[in-house]
Amino acid sequence: MHIYNSLSRTKEELRPIEPGHVKFYTCGPTVYNFAHIGNFRAYTFEDILRRVILYNGLRVTQVMNLTDIDDKTICGAQEKGVPLKSFTKPYIDAFFDDLKALNIQPAEHYPAATDHIPEMIALIAKLFERGLAYTSEDGSVYFSVDKLPGYGKLARLDRQNLRAGARVAQDEYEKESYGDFALWKAWDEGDGEVAWDSPWGRGRPGWHLECSAMSMHYLGETFDLHTGGIDNLFPHHENEIAQSEGATGKPFVTYWMHCAHLRVNGEKMSKSLGNFFTLRDLIEKGWSGREIRMVLINGHYRQPLNFTFDALEAARTALARIDECVDALEEYADGAAPADSVPVWASEARDAFTAAVNDDLNIPEAFAALFALVRGSNSALRDGKLSATDAAALLTLFDRMDSVLGVIRFGRAARTDAVPAEITALVEARAAARAAKEWAESDRLRDELAAKGWEVRDSKEGQKLKKL
Ligand code: AMP
Ligand code: ZN
Repeated sequence: MHIYNSLSRTKEELRPIEPGHVKFYTCGPTVYNFAHIGNFRAYTFEDILRRVILYNGLRVTQVMNLTDIDDKTICGAQEKGVPLKSFTKPYIDAFFDDLKALNIQPAEHYPAATDHIPEMIALIAKLFERGLAYTSEDGSVYFSVDKLPGYGKLARLDRQNLRAGARVAQDEYEKESYGDFALWKAWDEGDGEVAWDSPWGRGRPGWHLECSAMSMHYLGETFDLHTGGIDNLFPHHENEIAQSEGATGKPFVTYWMHCAHLRVNGEKMSKSLGNFFTLRDLIEKGWSGREIRMVLINGHYRQPLNFTFDALEAARTALARIDECVDALEEYADGAAPADSVPVWASEARDAFTAAVNDDLNIPEAFAALFALVRGSNSALRDGKLSATDAAALLTLFDRMDSVLGVIRFGRAARTDAVPAEITALVEARAAARAAKEWAESDRLRDELAAKGWEVRDSKEGQKLKKL
């Protein structure tokens, strides 16, 4: 499997340090509000990455942090006059609900910054030992960027022409204003009760420090992969590298991956621009998590993706086509065991799918391969060329593709479940009539169901229901 490494700016083969086991860290949500679907573009990209690694038969240990200490969470808690943890809890709960609604596989660990303060303090102590940290007049601690020769290697900072400026206290800033950044921020009134004791006085960690400390705590001083949205590349990830490599003297991460933004009318979807939709907004408008997932994953992750309602419509249509084909195959296979092999056109689609996902997660190409399978299946069904075992083997192939895409099986149950109670009652009455060998009554019930728009078919496993 090949991935594009933002550090080398080339596609490279993914070779984990521990053979067969990929360890990766994904920068998670700042839990001061509901995540918007731009954020979920990053999380669905990471979900696809995880699933492709698994598709290749490797093991995964994934860590996604919850940023529950930063300017925004502290400000929110202060405004509401509640403790930090009570302020962030509902947003953390909502985040996990949203992950489920988008069929995003759970990571192995979800550490919150508030639970890892001792590790952060220990990391700062190491940076002091190595002469890379210093205390400023107000008691904050800063990282001295000029003391670390490799500083700027991820963002390719032009250090010849850009001179390190003044210190930067805030977490986010432009390359042009790079300078010494805060590791520990001394308490001020705006922080209210949010403060921890440290050898440098009361205060709180900087955002970059949180991710360095938590990633190394769970994954070791050197691990395989680290991801986020492209806006995380500088300064967040650059500073993570500086802190971690500065403290350990070892390489921090082998591969860095970043997804491009979800946009609205050409601009980044973001809270500050106010051009965002949360998942809840879209679900209230009648779109399903499955349709939204399809839109978010169906673009190459390194290309910006424009969010439109037309794209949601197109996803709905595409999913209906897939469903129709899978439904037909299921009906045809009728529970048969899968054949050992699939027809040539299907194995070509499978190989194209594998090549696409292993070529830096090319999901649009992977969907093209899936639709080749849909077209092939439809025409083979139409021509009566398939046996039940062939149909079952094709279904296995759909499932294998779905282990990466996560849009075929997910959400379909709801469709079949959506049989009205009245129809279920008629089907049950018909089962009772058949058990009692009352064939005339059974036929009458079949007609009644047909009049209500439902076809019932008898099979070895009992009655099968289909909406006409
Ligand atoms: P935040 O909660 O702001 O720290 O962002 C969480 C994640 O969402 C980060 O990886 C960001 O890079 C990513 N992100 C934020 N906005 C967008 C967007 N419009 N498109 C894609 N990713 C985004
Ligand atoms: Zn991070």
